[in-house]
Amino acid sequence: SIQSSQEAIALENKYGAHNYHPLPVVLAKGEGVFLWDVEGKRYYDFLSAYSAVNQGHCHPRIKNALIEQAGTLTLTSRAFYNDVLGPFEKYLTEYFGFDKVLPMNTGAEGVETAIKIARKWGYEKKGIPENKAKIIVAENNFHGRTTTIISFSNDENARKNFGPYTAGFAKIAYDDISALKEALKDPEVVAFLVEPIQGEAGVYVPSEDYIRKAKEACSEKGVLFIADEIQTGIARTGSLLAVCGNCTCAGHCERQASYTKPDMLILGKAISGGFYPVSAVLADDDIMNVIKPGQHGSTFGGNPLGTQVAMTALEVVRDEHLAQNARKLGAIFRDRMNVLVGKYDIIKLVRGKGLLNAVVINDSEESSTAWDICVALKDNGLLAKPTHGNIIRFAPPLVMTEEQLHECCDIIEKTIKGF
Ligand code: PLP
Repeated sequence: SIQSSQEAIALENKYGAHNYHPLPVVLAKGEGVFLWDVEGKRYYDFLSAYSAVNQGHCHPRIKNALIEQAGTLTLTSRAFYNDVLGPFEKYLTEYFGFDKVLPMNTGAEGVETAIKIARKWGYEKKGIPENKAKIIVAENNFHGRTTTIISFSNDENARKNFGPYTAGFAKIAYDDISALKEALKDPEVVAFLVEPIQGEAGVYVPSEDYIRKAKEACSEKGVLFIADEIQTGIARTGSLLAVCGNCTCAGHCERQASYTKPDMLILGKAISGGFYPVSAVLADDDIMNVIKPGQHGSTFGGNPLGTQVAMTALEVVRDEHLAQNARKLGAIFRDRMNVLVGKYDIIKLVRGKGLLNAVVINDSEESSTAWDICVALKDNGLLAKPTHGNIIRFAPPLVMTEEQLHECCDIIEKTIKGF
């Protein structure tokens, strides 16, 4: 077994593809908001595995559900029925308020699934001529890493030399309703795929009414509004979903005026609390029923292990009031960071919603200052990662206490002082 962080890093460097540039820390244990490295040093986690462990590391309830199901039945494939999938589908559709769900594994697969359903719906329900369906996406989007998904990315590093690219996507500016309305004039458009807050791009929160107006504009044209809530969903932004707007209720409800119901909702990451890859596409019958046997699937999608874990992970979100906690702590975090904006030149601004936040470093995107700050934060016991050069994302598990958050803000301030 691994004796030192250095040894683990050397192994990854030698034997693993170099498709990531990790912070030099080797983690060996996690519990709640904490991680420990190989040498036993403890850190506050401020990435939450890109928002996949909203429930905190190794949550005991989810762990028990996993262990129990692992000893009973793990995988049957969808060639047969299994006794967990039906209850999961009922649970999930009621939890989020849709007729049906299509379960997959990773976020990118969820996005691919939504694209396929939208196209098929376009041909069969809207009468779009064969192979002409178009999907509108936003500039600076991040929806995953498959060849189709990177085809509509504008991140050169993610795209270059991976062509030829998949056709059928049109890009418009984010948070720009007139650009959307212009693009919707094209009669071959079937859907608008968008993140309610752009996470990977640097936590860009659009105008207050952007999501509602975008959905309205799509509906007027008979175009599907698809929300990718893989990163923003499951209580991260202070409500169950980012499309819930300012709704503070414990779970899903459609009574709040601020709720915008997407035609398709894509979930992943924290839907399974970091234990097992589970993703899902939710839609009502008129859309989901275009998919017939043999037209889409996955060996692992909807397996008993993943679905049991996901149900428990969602119960935890509700029982532990994680959306409310994210809302309360997020406001405190931004207040404390705004004090730093006034005090230290190196901090330009803080933005975000709930516990999905970013601090913009007052330096060029090409500089390494944000990276250097993250290394210093690590030395001071807090793990965060730059996204896009000069932006640091701060997204701790949602089970954090107010006292812990203040301690973390103290660590951040102490670290910033040194720059
Ligand atoms: N969509 C969004 C908004 C994401 O943030 C991510 C992951 O960061 C994905 C899709 C892709 O998910 P996965 O890495 O599980 O394929």
